[in-house]
Amino acid sequence: MSTPATASGVRVRIAPSPTGEPHVGTAYIALFNYLFAKKNNGTFILRIEDTDATRSTPEFEQKVLDALKWCGLEWSEGPDIGGPYGPYRQSDRKDIYRPFVDKIVENGHGFKCFCTPERLEKMREAQRAAGKPPKYDGHCLHLSAEEVAARVEAGEPHVVRMKIPTEGSCKFVDGVYGPVEIPWDAVDMQVLLKADGMPTYHMANVVDDHLMKITHVARGEEWLASVPKHILIYQYLGLEPPVFMHLSLMRNHDKSKLSKRKNPTSISYYSALGYLPEALMNFLGLFFVQIAEGEEMLTMDQLAEKFDPENLSKAGAIFDIQKLDWLNGRWLREQLSEEEFVQRVLSWAMENDRVRQGLKLSQSRISKLGELPDLAGFLLKSDLGLTPEAFAKVKSTPEEILEVLNQVQPDLEKMPEWTVESIEAELRASADRLGKKLKVVVAPLFVAVSGSSRSLPLFDSMAILGRSVVRQRLKVAAQVVASMVGSGK
Ligand code: GLU
Repeated sequence: MSTPATASGVRVRIAPSPTGEPHVGTAYIALFNYLFAKKNNGTFILRIEDTDATRSTPEFEQKVLDALKWCGLEWSEGPDIGGPYGPYRQSDRKDIYRPFVDKIVENGHGFKCFCTPERLEKMREAQRAAGKPPKYDGHCLHLSAEEVAARVEAGEPHVVRMKIPTEGSCKFVDGVYGPVEIPWDAVDMQVLLKADGMPTYHMANVVDDHLMKITHVARGEEWLASVPKHILIYQYLGLEPPVFMHLSLMRNHDKSKLSKRKNPTSISYYSALGYLPEALMNFLGLFFVQIAEGEEMLTMDQLAEKFDPENLSKAGAIFDIQKLDWLNGRWLREQLSEEEFVQRVLSWAMENDRVRQGLKLSQSRISKLGELPDLAGFLLKSDLGLTPEAFAKVKSTPEEILEVLNQVQPDLEKMPEWTVESIEAELRASADRLGKKLKVVVAPLFVAVSGSSRSLPLFDSMAILGRSVVRQRLKVAAQVVASMVGSGK
């Protein structure tokens, strides 16, 4: 198979790591790449970067694919559809990287490092104490070839690190930042191959971008500091680096990095609340175009037409939810026919089977159908309008409720799976940790999640709502309860 005849040579990719709920930041970078490909008649590729085997899961990978599809960002090559440069999942490419690492070592640009995790920790501690940034100290840099061979022969665990020039700086031109200069002194002797034979992100990323013929790498600004390592790996392998473009991060209103503690960041949160994917893409796409006031409403085709990667701001893209709400409202009112609107509402309600599941749970709890909106309406609401009065029937004090909410939130975050069973198990464990009965933990959660103390079973409801909506509801509940603390409820 070869690239389609219509495609220009431009090849770009989104390379998410499936280690959590797909983030709107991923959609933002993906959209940039998608528009870049569209504008240049190029090819947009999806590659799954799962070299971090402890944090990557197939469940999250599926969610990334679903979320990007929901956004309307279709790729021409990817793990689900294949393509001429596959496989497109790094864990399926393990054997591909080794020869590249060997070449770097053979040419004297890399070295085997036998330092134990304990030694590295001590080294970092000493660096911290001395107020220096943590960096490998070169302990194994000058081991003799005989010693290295003997230690490898003896089966001693080791990694491969890259050498870094001892003086000067790395100069490159970034498509957004312009000329950048980073002193080599600030660059760590990066591990390229881990002790288990798996490449690190840096190694796999460079090799794959090369083998997949990526011409432009557009990604978040958090990777800008890694460019010297990447350029060096390209040089060590005798390869030409792609063009780099580092996009400013999306930020909260207060300019801090967009994080789920302040704003909902999961794509699934926005789909669950009934934002249209077109409106979300329109909103994110506005960061990549120059338009006059009044021209904000743009379809994907119009975004591609106006797409202007030369004039991006370095200031940071502010995630202004009010603007998103405004755009979404306009999309609902102005861009959909009545019939389309009805269809959209119905498919939104059925998303993830939530209405069907909610109805099944409701059947044994009502005496007439008209009670359904009160009983199960919370499954569809964007805002429960929670007030202190909602907690009136909960027997604990506001302090105790707050303690429960504060314990449960991080516990739910670290669950690898989000199912009725895993939620129940985690909440039982949370109750144990707090030294409280399960019902003491469950009672305030009931209110936080459903807005009422009479509703559907809690674990099922949480599973139906999804992690990102539950996260937001617990956060809002904690704010409401915090306002009650000390007020003698
Ligand atoms: N796997 C990296 C991430 O999830 C990709 C960075 C890149 O595009 O090079 O952010």
